[in-house]
Amino acid sequence: MRVAIASGKGGTGKTTVATNLAWVAAQAKKSVVYLDCDVEEPNGQIFLRPIKDWQKTVTVSVPRVDPVVCDLCGQCGQICQFSAIVCVGQKVLVFPELCHSCGGCDLVCPLSAITEVPRGIATVMAGHTGSLRYVQGLLNIGEAMSPPVIRAVKAEAPEADLVIVDAPPGTACPVVEAVKGCDHVLLVTEPTPFGLHDLELALETVRSLGISCEVVINRAGLNGSATKELCRRKGVEVVAEFPDSRRVAEAYSRGELASEKDPEIRDLVGSLLGHLENST
Ligand code: SF4
Ligand code: SF4
Repeated sequence: MRVAIASGKGGTGKTTVATNLAWVAAQAKKSVVYLDCDVEEPNGQIFLRPIKDWQKTVTVSVPRVDPVVCDLCGQCGQICQFSAIVCVGQKVLVFPELCHSCGGCDLVCPLSAITEVPRGIATVMAGHTGSLRYVQGLLNIGEAMSPPVIRAVKAEAPEADLVIVDAPPGTACPVVEAVKGCDHVLLVTEPTPFGLHDLELALETVRSLGISCEVVINRAGLNGSATKELCRRKGVEVVAEFPDSRRVAEAYSRGELASEKDPEIRDLVGSLLGHLENST
């Protein structure tokens, strides 16, 4: 079972749900893999505290122009949709951070003046917490191309009873890359106007991908009626409500798993896990 934990916006408690679900499943003697695909800020490790045992650099291909061969025809700049290669005066300039590694410039160059060279953009790290396997990606500072890093993280997932994908927040390409191939998505939201707005967008995104999804309300109790009404209108089930609890907030601020410290939360997460096992 591969379940993505996603949210339309940051700060809803997505990682809290994901890490607690992983921990409770591992305590129940299931083989669990946690994939932290929130590669701009992977913080699952704060709560799961994996012992690192492997890492690699993620590279993408970017063009390099041989100035001796190049005749400044400008065709590479014309094909590039991202202005990552530009013919200016007597030079061809390459902006590696803008390059999407499509290979188009290399293909159209009539003189074969372009070669593709690797450029490191991120690190993928793996480790373990007891029997739980943990994998995360971390983009280098200043890099913006998270989809290749998310693919690299997902490629490192071994077979397991439960694979949890901690997706990046939002509804853009990185989220699509993270949830692609998952059996189910849990959308974590908070009962605020911003949470409601972004939940609606996230629901549309996941549904357009044809993946089943359900909603988890975090910090429930503030004002959940509008969220539940939206879910009712959209025909999506609210499968868990985590309370707006000081004990949970304190555990979070100390980098602790709420379900390790609080039996009530452990039972809630256990019920959610049981629901997933029975319905997916
Ligand atoms: S590989 Fe694609 S995105 Fe990168 S510079 Fe060439 S045409 Fe532009
Ligand atoms: S297409 Fe090739 S020859 Fe033409 S400007 Fe680009 S690198 Fe130079």
